[in-house]
Amino acid sequence: MCGIIGCVGHHDDTLDVVLDGLETLEYRGYDSAGVALVDDSIDVQKKQGRLEALRTEIAKRDVTPTGDVGIGHTRWSTHGPPTDANAHPHTDEAGQVAVVHNGIIENYQSLRDELEAEGVTFTSDTDTEVIPHLFAAYLETDLSTELAFHRTLERIDGSYAIAAVVAGDDRIFATRNDSPLVLGIGENQYYLASDVPAFLEYTRDVVYLDDGDVAIIDADGWDVTDGDGESVDKEVSTVTWSAEQTGKSGYEHYMLKEINEQPTALRQGLSGRLDELAGDITVEELDDVGFPETVHFVACGTSYHAALYGVELFREVGVPAQAFLASEYATGPAPIPEDGLIVGVTQSGETADTLSALREAQGRGAKTLALTNVVGSTAARECDHALYIRSGPEIGVAATKTFSSQLTALNLLAETIADNTRGSRDLVLALRDVPSDIQQVLDETTAEAIVDEYVDNESFFFIGRGLHFPVALEGALKFKEITYEHAEGFASGELKHGPLALVTSNTPVFAIVTGNDERARKTIGNVKEVEARDAPVIAVTDGQSDVERYADHVLEIPETHQRTAPMLANVQLQLVAYHMANQLGRSIDKPRNLAKSVTVE
Ligand code: GLU
Repeated sequence: MCGIIGCVGHHDDTLDVVLDGLETLEYRGYDSAGVALVDDSIDVQKKQGRLEALRTEIAKRDVTPTGDVGIGHTRWSTHGPPTDANAHPHTDEAGQVAVVHNGIIENYQSLRDELEAEGVTFTSDTDTEVIPHLFAAYLETDLSTELAFHRTLERIDGSYAIAAVVAGDDRIFATRNDSPLVLGIGENQYYLASDVPAFLEYTRDVVYLDDGDVAIIDADGWDVTDGDGESVDKEVSTVTWSAEQTGKSGYEHYMLKEINEQPTALRQGLSGRLDELAGDITVEELDDVGFPETVHFVACGTSYHAALYGVELFREVGVPAQAFLASEYATGPAPIPEDGLIVGVTQSGETADTLSALREAQGRGAKTLALTNVVGSTAARECDHALYIRSGPEIGVAATKTFSSQLTALNLLAETIADNTRGSRDLVLALRDVPSDIQQVLDETTAEAIVDEYVDNESFFFIGRGLHFPVALEGALKFKEITYEHAEGFASGELKHGPLALVTSNTPVFAIVTGNDERARKTIGNVKEVEARDAPVIAVTDGQSDVERYADHVLEIPETHQRTAPMLANVQLQLVAYHMANQLGRSIDKPRNLAKSVTVE
């Protein structure tokens, strides 16, 4: 999920090109880094932590790594904690092959079992390590290096960008599936990287690889084939952006980039965990969680809203559940159920309030589970269980893709724990389709034009019922965090019990209404209440009810399962907040007074 760089044809300064390239990819977030330089043998150096730690490690050596071919990697762990051994590049036992990989190899466990049965010894916990062992095994046969690489790729499933090198070979072998990889075309110098800035200093001519492309570069040129080795015509384009813009993949802000990354983030989160044919959900990490009598969620901010959504899911599958603000849980009178499961929802895994609530629960003998994006984080290490949401790193302070990934992971958690087979096939199919549904929302949204009409307003309401209530809260939180305008979220039925007093023609109301059941009809009743007070109404809807009749504007989402509809509605509200903040010229990626990971209580 993080950064890959490779270069050929640089001779004396290969190491610098690779390290500097990794530095320009730092913005993507990472927890470890490593390089491999190739001549007759492969010299690998890798280190947990910042790139600086890797540079220091290299500086300590008597002999600086050299070679005409180099690859480098910044890792953002998904399988195994961030340690030196788990950092990339990974090699085969003889050190003849080195591989860097971003993404997830779904079938790594069965491949690892197979290789171990053949006597191969693994040195890391990663899914990645199966690749160099397989590649080396095929090289042992009579196959050419190209064919051995192709054979290796035929064996792996999942999402990946891969670069591989072989001792004594002056080529880099690369491919991608669902993970970015681009070639840089220089003169007798060629590059590959996860993003253009990594080699922008040397060339602006690039070839964007597509899923399934297999690229080979050496100092004489580049070549792209498909999985069968048939040549693929690729266009060389010239990048006109500045390095600053490309760092955000051309987006104006990290937040907008991350909103747009949601289809990929959710695919990663679901990868290998859904069985569409059987309608089953299987999450290996949860194998020994068991069936708790009750579930308590502890969380803060956006994660708390995800927790509220989780409560509804658990109730649906028959497990009593409650959500608590983490800062209240540890110090408040909440009875901590000893036979319950305490789920800490924390994007970073380092949120002090959540850690303290989890520690309190553990101290009282309860089992704990961390639902987090960061492998090896404190929450993941300290809890009895960890479920990783696999969003990829999030740089913008306002959480966007991690919230969507949390909602997805909560579905996996609730279904796995309840071992629910009733009707879960519909859910499995809906979850499978969420990435493309979100893509549709991103492609067709009219949020930017709608917010233009309300830039002068100073107070905004968000309402929803059932599973849409947490999304209404989240919509308002996102809005206030980055626009600095007053925004509140309410359960739609609550308006008339107080907040309606604030509703005037100056308070736009965003109402989430999907389906056409009783909940939808009741929310439409609440929409009519605000409409009667002249408030502008913006309906977020799948068009199944007649809410549009009472709305001034509509933000459309595709029809889907009632569990997944909130995820799509949420994307529209993220875009509303983003475009409003952009109109108002706010500091979107670093809103005032806020920090990404809140490590104080
Ligand atoms: N799944 C691999 C690992 O955990 C790659 C992670 C990445 O994309 O950086 O090592």
